[in-house]
Amino acid sequence: MHIDAIVLDNFKSFGRKTRIPFYEDFTTISGPNGSGKSNIIDGVLFALGLARTSGIRAEKLTDLIYNPGHHGESDTSGPREATVEVVLNNADGTLDRQQVVSAAGTDKIGDVETIAIRRRVKETEDNYYSYYYINDRSVNLSDIQDLLAQAGIAPEGYNVVMQGDVTEIINMTAGTRREIIDEIAGVAEFDEKKAQAFEE
Ligand code: ATP
Ligand code: MG
Repeated sequence: MHIDAIVLDNFKSFGRKTRIPFYEDFTTISGPNGSGKSNIIDGVLFALGLARTSGIRAEKLTDLIYNPGHHGESDTSGPREATVEVVLNNADGTLDRQQVVSAAGTDKIGDVETIAIRRRVKETEDNYYSYYYINDRSVNLSDIQDLLAQAGIAPEGYNVVMQGDVTEIINMTAGTRREIIDEIAGVAEFDEKKAQAFEE
């Protein structure tokens, strides 16, 4: 399974609906500082429910809505709503139909070669709302998380390496770095078992 495209609409610096296509194997996004590269990754984390608001560099969810006056003057005209859709290519059957059907809560979801996960945040005068969808079916965050977990994608996983993470890993002590490698390699759980065995 891989990402086919990300569609950002009124999300962060993307004031216009923008579709970003991805290659199957490797895609690089380049651009000057502040041009919105990280905002694209924030969009993925937002749509897939993989990060808290602070993890996508916002104080509150509604800060994610495109604000034309982001650089000083405030302008709140236009729709106060942001949407991000992550289009997953599931042609290799990473997720089977039944898994998608149970996450979406219906079998009326068409074929599952393409799985579109969409999130919308909407601000009204006195409140805000957040909605998730799988192939246009309204679902809960837990449905998305359960589905993605079956493809090995989890909030606490290392699926996304954020800006600064690499520097942090370089600067940490060899011991702490080793702990992360052990965690990824799945060795950490054996260390725990070994420690338990020694205690006994
Ligand atoms: P760098 O190379 O420095 O990492 P980048 O390409 O990753 O840069 P981003 O962090 O994705 O850049 O984009 C930052 C820009 O997004 C800033 O100019 C900021 O003003 C803008 N931005 C963030 N939130 C909003 C918003 N809600 N509305 C409009 N613009 C926003
Ligand atoms: Mg960046």
